[in-house]
Amino acid sequence: MSELALLGGKPVRTEAFPAYKVIGKDDEDAVAKVMQSGILSRFLGAWHPDFHGGPEVQAFEAEWAGAFDAAHAVSINSNTSGLFCSIGAVGVGPGDEVIVSPYTMSASAIAPIIFNAVPVFADIDPVSYCLSAETIAPKITPRTKAIIVVHIFGNVADMDPIMELAAKHNITVIEDCAQAPFASYKGRPVGTLGHLGVFSLNYHKHIHTGEGGVVVTNHANLAERVALIRNHGEAVIEAKTKAEGGSLDLVNMLGFNMRLGEIEAAIGRRQLIKGPDLIEQRRANVAYLESKLSGVPGLSMPQVQDGVKHVYYVHALSYEAQITGVRRETWVAALKAELPPTQLREGEGVLIGQGYVRPLYRQPLYQTRQAYGDGKTGCPFACPHYTGTLDYDPASYPNVENAHFTRVVTHELMRPPMTHKDLDAVVDAIHKVSEQLPALKAWEGALTP
Ligand SMILES: *Cc1c(COP(=O)(O)O)cnc(C)c1O
Repeated sequence: MSELALLGGKPVRTEAFPAYKVIGKDDEDAVAKVMQSGILSRFLGAWHPDFHGGPEVQAFEAEWAGAFDAAHAVSINSNTSGLFCSIGAVGVGPGDEVIVSPYTMSASAIAPIIFNAVPVFADIDPVSYCLSAETIAPKITPRTKAIIVVHIFGNVADMDPIMELAAKHNITVIEDCAQAPFASYKGRPVGTLGHLGVFSLNYHKHIHTGEGGVVVTNHANLAERVALIRNHGEAVIEAKTKAEGGSLDLVNMLGFNMRLGEIEAAIGRRQLIKGPDLIEQRRANVAYLESKLSGVPGLSMPQVQDGVKHVYYVHALSYEAQITGVRRETWVAALKAELPPTQLREGEGVLIGQGYVRPLYRQPLYQTRQAYGDGKTGCPFACPHYTGTLDYDPASYPNVENAHFTRVVTHELMRPPMTHKDLDAVVDAIHKVSEQLPALKAWEGALTP
């Protein structure tokens, strides 16, 4: 048995893994075409045919709506902006509560605060790492206006019971699909399982346009309000109302410029075509890895609910230190020592991590409850309109705490174009570490006096 690299031995592999690169000649050609047209954005912040953007933006939106089985798709300059427009569109305001997962990227919870409402965190399901109807139910109050369900790691939350619960209480459900494009639930793509779905086209996601995003919905009124908030709604709403003969709805009509450019939209159209195949490659790589990793002591593979198509933004393994006798930190350090970084992301080291991002309630924003001004007004957490009691105590979220601080090991080494030979290095490294747990335990013991 060769010595562990962490203990001075030879690593399993030193040659960098291949980069995940989804931009190709087709994207370049699409960009060149836009450049030659000279029109890099055709949006107009007024009620006019160009209010909805230029030809690439509109084609991209129609194609995205088709691919995700949605009646409407509204492009946006990021998922963060998409959540912002969605929360605004729903009419969330001061005194309202929005239930959101605390085990997600920070952006998932910010939109309610911008509209002077408060995020109420619910615990996650320990198996799916997403919110569930069981964890959401105890958090519902008369103030609950919306729920933001995050399909974390590429998995899909168990949506049917969540929608049933939401319908009973007349609550709008927004799906944060940033990590789950092309994932599906009982044969239906994510995004329209709830009332609104928000996708990211940021560089780190499955498919990307550098920065960008899309909001999908089957509700025309919500799509319209998202489009207004995206593009200077306050300057448009009156003319639009007059033109369409509707009544003036000024709720949350503070518009922004969160528009996607023609170049990004043109890239997005190409990415949309490539997405499904990239996702299948990822899923095949995960299946290959999992077939070689069964029976590794203390390590379990993600469990996917029947009817869910998981798209593996990351491959989240579950680690049990009680079984290995070795701390997660030590086990991960030993594994990383055996493997190389990935091209284009060398600066991040080996793409294996403990847990995911720090649970949101632990951020200073929530712990000090300071958002606007110097904190003396307390808005929105303690503003006069808010009559509830907030709970940002980590002890209230045992499943999140356990997943993040003791159990979850994530990696990104299943991304294409990883070949079987590349994946075998990952498998060999995991087996090598697992076969030498006693040596690791001794090393760990020597560290802690
Ligand atoms: C990446 C991500 C976001 C933010 O997406 P942007 O397009 O970068 O704004 C939001 N939620 C989740 C779950 C994410 O992974």
